[in-house]
Amino acid sequence: MLTIKTSASRKKSLTNFKIDYEYYFCTVQLTAPNIMKNKRLSRLKNAICGASALLVCVSMFSFKASASAKSCLADTVTNGFKLRTVIVDAGHGVKPDNAPKGHYSRGADGSFSNERNVTLSIALKLQKAIEKDITGVKAVLTRSTEEDVSFERRAQIANENKGNLFISIHCNSLPDRIVRERVGGTARRPKYRSMRVADRSGRGTLFLIYGLKRTTEADREIKNNQVEADSDLDGDGLDPNDPVVIILTNEYRRRFRKQSVNIANLINEEIVQTDGRRSEGLREQSIYVLCHAAMPSVLVETGYINNHDDEEYLNSEEGQTEIVNSIVRAITKYKNQMEASETN
Ligand SMILES: [Zn+2]
Repeated sequence: MLTIKTSASRKKSLTNFKIDYEYYFCTVQLTAPNIMKNKRLSRLKNAICGASALLVCVSMFSFKASASAKSCLADTVTNGFKLRTVIVDAGHGVKPDNAPKGHYSRGADGSFSNERNVTLSIALKLQKAIEKDITGVKAVLTRSTEEDVSFERRAQIANENKGNLFISIHCNSLPDRIVRERVGGTARRPKYRSMRVADRSGRGTLFLIYGLKRTTEADREIKNNQVEADSDLDGDGLDPNDPVVIILTNEYRRRFRKQSVNIANLINEEIVQTDGRRSEGLREQSIYVLCHAAMPSVLVETGYINNHDDEEYLNSEEGQTEIVNSIVRAITKYKNQMEASETN
């Protein structure tokens, strides 16, 4: 988790949103006026267009995954689509000594466990289960040890391996609440002190898909799919004025958003209907690794690690197996849907 900033939006997020705080979450304002004000981008927009824009910018800005990103783009829009490779991303980790430059995050802590170990354990099980239960599908891990891998490297791994689907495993956590307690004074001049109190009331799953400013059509889709509105968390990792981010964001929305919502809904249904667990539904969020992985993607908050019951569940063999089996059933349905629709 990150040190909590004291900006207005961060304060609001402390009280209004249930999110695990980390570099992953970045709010990017991509309004039309901002785009038009950006002369650098205007020049860029005039020079390039469409899919070639993505590739030109990618090479201009040394985004190393260009070739594989191109093949992923093609895979999702051509007939004969086959789901071949699922990227399984275990959130967080311990930053290694002499780590390459990039963004790292240790994740949230529970009372007897921590997010980075739980996500790794679930991800390892998920990789094995996908390869065992879904014929012809390979599962690639972005990290397989306790050492953290930067967000940038995770996206590269996804693209280098020509992933068709990106599943990021996380645990949620509520930030402490700030409460005021009277400590004396007079009736006219009471004295108070502020205290941080752990908020353990969060429970259940949450699904995050990558999203920024929405259109009316997207709003309708969100309503139908119970996707919640953007939260306004601050963060690092995505520069809203970076042309690469802008182009990748537009490409993501155009090519991968629909299937990202689809896979998130399929996993959500399994977890709610088969496992009988509580869910907070789907939410759009600016998330570095989802934006840069050029494929449909979802971040699964598997439960609240700072809630006692959820933490027990997340650490139990039974709980981890249920989560893994639900994700595998959802991926199987997704595969069947996508491969059937592409051959019709
Ligand atoms: Zn996390």
